[in-house]
This record gives sequence, structure tokens and C-alpha cells, in this order.
Amino acid sequence: MIRSLPLTCSRCGKEFVPRGALHYQDDFSVQNFKDIRLVCDQCIADWKNKWQIAGAEYSERNYVLTVTITLQDGTVFRDMDCTPIEETETVITGEDIPAEAQHKLYEYYEAFARLRESQQIKDCFFEKLSEGKFNADITTNGGEHFESLAFVVEDGYLKLEKDVPDYILEGLVNAFKSYLAQEEMLSTSTQPAPRPPRRRTMPESQWPSGGGFGQNNKNPFGEF
Ligand SMILES: [Zn+2]
Repeated sequence: MIRSLPLTCSRCGKEFVPRGALHYQDDFSVQNFKDIRLVCDQCIADWKNKWQIAGAEYSERNYVLTVTITLQDGTVFRDMDCTPIEETETVITGEDIPAEAQHKLYEYYEAFARLRESQQIKDCFFEKLSEGKFNADITTNGGEHFESLAFVVEDGYLKLEKDVPDYILEGLVNAFKSYLAQEEMLSTSTQPAPRPPRRRTMPESQWPSGGGFGQNNKNPFGEF
């Protein structure tokens, strides 16, 4: 049975004659040829034209990378989840973005990644001033120095005497956690190890619920 399909654009609703290639919206749920959502050449041209990138700001939190994109026509796409693909030098988001604009986004991503790398802490030295009070000397990969940063640990939070950028605070918290862990290890290794008490394995039903460590199961310096 021969059937005919009028070529109607799913975006602008106009009938069209394709030049060179037939554009359509990728959709895995489409079962039938007539349900394919075609896009006319004019709409493709408009789409490519719209995606002139004026700026892209990346941020990373808990290993989730997001980007806010501003187009030259003023359109803003906020906090979109995105994935940079090194091999193709593109950035994939939930939006349909023309290849050229994806490459442009990748350029912005590279600049972001370079900055992030330079802000990572390279060296961090601690000095204990008094009980619960410390000094830190920090150097970043980019060569920034933060010297004699005095801080205290209060209610499980690390409090600095002067303001520092967020990336320094974040790095300082991580470095201080390792410092404390190391101190703990040194202090137990210099003392004679107490004989571990013999303990019968508890049946699973008697295990304390919740897990974690410490009595109240709070992660020290975990939250800001
Ligand atoms: Zn169209």
C-alpha cells in the first residue's frame, strides 16, 4: 500500500519542501512514520541563529556540574545539568543545542576547569596555637598564598577570623580533616596499643541503628 505524507513542520506548522536533508526531532517513542516530528529548513536556520552564546557560567556542587547560558538575544537558561565530552569537545545539556554552540560551551567549560584547578590547594600547613585554635598557611596550585589564617573549631564548624574565598574555605576544611586524622593516628601509634577487648559478634538484630560515628552521628565540619 502506497501512502503519502505531507511534509509539515512540527514547530511552525507550515508545509515545506526539504533541501538536502530532512530534519526531525529525535524521539524513541515514535512507532509510526507519520508521527515523526519534522522540522523545516527555516526553523533549523532560526534555531541555529538563536544559539549565539553570549556567556556561560559553570558551577560544580557535590560532583554535579551545571551551567547558566546567556544567548545574544537575551534568553537565559539557568542551572542546566550538563556533561562535557572531551573527545568531541562539546557540552551536552537537556536542551537541543546546535553543534557550533556546543563547541563554544566547551571553550567556556575549559576556562572554568582551568580556574578550578588553579584554585585547588597545593600545600596547607597547620600550627596548633592553643586548645581548639589553629593557624593555617595555604598555597593554591595557581600560586595564591593565604598566610596565618587563624581559626577555631566551634560546634563542629570551622570558624575563620577573617573572610576567605569559598574555594579556600572548602579546601581548608578538607585539609584539616586529613590533618586531624593524621594526628589521631600519630597519637595512637606512639602509645602502647591497648589490648582490644574480646567481644562476641552481636546478632544483626542487636546492631545499633543509624550507623555513622560518634554518639550523635554528626559529621564534624560537614555543613556550611
Ligand atoms: Zn518550521
